[in-house]
Amino acid sequence: MMAFNKVTPQIIERLRAIVGEENVLTALEDITQYGLDEIEERYRNLPEVVVKPRTPEEVAAIMKLANEARIPVTPRGAGTGLSGGAVPLYGGIVLSLERMNEILEIDHDNMMVTVEPGVVLADMMRAVEAQGLFYPVDVSTLESCHVGGNVAENAGGARAMKYGVTGHWVCGLEVVTPTGEIVHIGGKRIKDVTGYNLVQLLVGSEGTLGIITKIIFRLTVKPKYVLDLLIPFESLDIAVAQVLGLLREVYGLSAVEFMDSLSIQAAEQYLNMTLPYDDCEAHLLIQIDGMEEEEVWRVAERAYQKLIEAGAKEVFVADNRITREKIWRARREIAEALRALHRYISVEDIVVPRAKIPEMVQSIRKIARRHRLVVPVYGHIGDGNLHPTPVADDFDEQTWISKLDAFLMDLFCAVRELGGNLTAEHGVGLKRIKYLPLVMSQAEIALMQAIKKAWDPNGILNPGKVVMLETGP
Ligand SMILES: Cc1cc2nc3c(=O)[nH]c(=O)nc-3n(C[C@H](O)[C@H](O)[C@H](O)COP(=O)(O)OP(=O)(O)OC[C@H]3O[C@@H](n4cnc5c(N)ncnc54)[C@H](O)[C@@H]3O)c2cc1C
Repeated sequence: MMAFNKVTPQIIERLRAIVGEENVLTALEDITQYGLDEIEERYRNLPEVVVKPRTPEEVAAIMKLANEARIPVTPRGAGTGLSGGAVPLYGGIVLSLERMNEILEIDHDNMMVTVEPGVVLADMMRAVEAQGLFYPVDVSTLESCHVGGNVAENAGGARAMKYGVTGHWVCGLEVVTPTGEIVHIGGKRIKDVTGYNLVQLLVGSEGTLGIITKIIFRLTVKPKYVLDLLIPFESLDIAVAQVLGLLREVYGLSAVEFMDSLSIQAAEQYLNMTLPYDDCEAHLLIQIDGMEEEEVWRVAERAYQKLIEAGAKEVFVADNRITREKIWRARREIAEALRALHRYISVEDIVVPRAKIPEMVQSIRKIARRHRLVVPVYGHIGDGNLHPTPVADDFDEQTWISKLDAFLMDLFCAVRELGGNLTAEHGVGLKRIKYLPLVMSQAEIALMQAIKKAWDPNGILNPGKVVMLETGP
């Protein structure tokens, strides 16, 4: 059994020598915010020290020191994660990448952008769009999350249906290993099968295998026309049942999102706005983009006909920026709204094969009823990715924890029966680790442990996340 050591005054001095005194935080009021991400408050755990390096060399020196001294290190981006990935479970060092925030190069000829991990996603999107290029992965937290956090979580988002998730766009990485080597993997190459695909191993590794210090993303051409359709349905079952037909029969959709009435009403209350037909059981939100205006409208018409025939109450078209922003804001802020309105909340992130979506939605409702929990559901239904989000106000904390656990056990078993999985884009983090054996064989878990040990022999990098080793204080 390996044990971690505490951060001593000597270690603090050495960290100060690496990054400068002002970039080493130890005061309680400074480190408190680094003890939690967007997971529930009960998971908060304070680091002993927060360090903010500016260069890969500084990151490497910190990792060498931490590895020698057996001190746990938790990398952190913007802290918008929903699975506790950035929570320093064993104290130690939080390594914040917030100062590594430069867009280093927009390479027009190769259609690639090279960035540091602390760049805010929306800033990168705007910078490449200003040059007629396009990075399409629109994570809902785009105005705050960092691209390093996106790569570490393999973040998805509404347009994953058409454009894929973050990993589809990562061509190269600079990574500092847990033992302090700086390695360059991948590069500005669209195709490359030289050896194992380490780039995609690091994508989604949740800060447990290495610290990402540079990213090369490939880009595409910005679509010229975008239309959004908001479609209320009186019946949730009918709304959900439309999704498969839409995907099969209407080519050109870039997003199909789902919001039930509890989610819509929470967003309205939180944002002090109203959306049409908010008493309907469910809304779909569809995005269509393309290079030709006529083609985009043709796709919209096909979708319109299909949805009206299927019983949609109305199809609202948002073809200007203001209406579009209003609708998407409501969709993006659902999790925040539910958090603001309820004492307890657990944002879940299940995924099932798309043909199983209707069955999954029915299962969620049945399981929620069985456990007497209120469970708003919304999400990227076009990907089979739903966010059932149990909320509660009346219980004491212990009752909530045990009710939630029983609900999740049943939910994840239902997901497994339908060929799905625990998380599509938020990650295992610390929150889902105990449920992994429900969906993974012991052999698969052992392979992940072997990979972790090969990269991080002393288990110091983000311990207690994704996969457990025999590590602990
Ligand atoms: C309201 C709301 C909506 C959201 N919507 C979406 C959505 O649509 N799609 C989606 O995929 N996610 C979504 N998320 C989750 C979250 O925004 C994403 O996971 C995002 O990618 C996290 O980025 P971050 O910079 O905040 O990372 P953090 O939360 O700081 O860290 C996340 C993980 O990455 C690791 N990490 C961070 N930076 C690095 C690095 N440079 N090197 C190595 N490891 C690192 C951390 O250790 C941690 O394990 C949402 C969250 C909220 C609160």
